[in-house]
Amino acid sequence: MAIESAAPVAMSEADRAKEIAQLKAGKTAAMANLIDEAETPLAEEYVLPGGEAAQEDVSIEILPEQVDEFTCVSCFMVRHRTQLAREENGQKFCSECEG
Ligand SMILES: [Zn+2]
Repeated sequence: MAIESAAPVAMSEADRAKEIAQLKAGKTAAMANLIDEAETPLAEEYVLPGGEAAQEDVSIEILPEQVDEFTCVSCFMVRHRTQLAREENGQKFCSECEG
């Protein structure tokens, strides 16, 4: 009985040593994962709010008026020429402003 009980203990100690080694390796890998996860969200946050939102605003603001459109000098909105209510010295007023 003593020999049988000693053998498992010895094996469990060996297994425990392996587990400790695996835990250390696992912790190292986990810490590496934490570092990667910490860097990734920061990169995404940096790109999303700054890049896309700004590009959308710019594309909307810079959008030039088309041939059949004009910019109302009163409300500064780009209107279709069918909404041109009055033109005076090259200044165009939309039908809403002249309403
Ligand atoms: Zn207007």
